[in-house]
Amino acid sequence: MECTTTPRRVQRTRRRGEPGMPPGAKYIGRGSRHGNRFKVGEPLPWPYSARFDEPVLIADRQMAVLWYALDLKATVGALYLACRDLAGHDLACWCAEGDLCHGDVLLPVTNAPEDSAEQMLDIVISVLAYGREFPYGPA
Ligand SMILES: [Zn+2]
Repeated sequence: MECTTTPRRVQRTRRRGEPGMPPGAKYIGRGSRHGNRFKVGEPLPWPYSARFDEPVLIADRQMAVLWYALDLKATVGALYLACRDLAGHDLACWCAEGDLCHGDVLLPVTNAPEDSAEQMLDIVISVLAYGREFPYGPA
């Protein structure tokens, strides 16, 4: 019988003398290929900023994560790379485990059943955009 565990999001920590990375987890924070370039309090980056006459500030975590998900959908090859790199792994970010994080997009999407990552991404975007309580966070 095969024994599996569901991948989850874990917090990377800074403690003296420790690597700060849970064993087996993949780091998805800033500086990694899968980091979220949409930052709370900063203007929307290019090319999305070009759609607006005035700078649009990213107001909160929900907006930062929603834009991350939209960018994942809009960027050719990004979803493929995310699935290839991250499927089946715990995802480590600096975010506290109860805070909404782009890892909460990557977890359900990269672990969606075969060939359904795009549909899962659409569902995640809909949930984020309509402002309902996000169902994919840690239990
Ligand atoms: Zn995070």
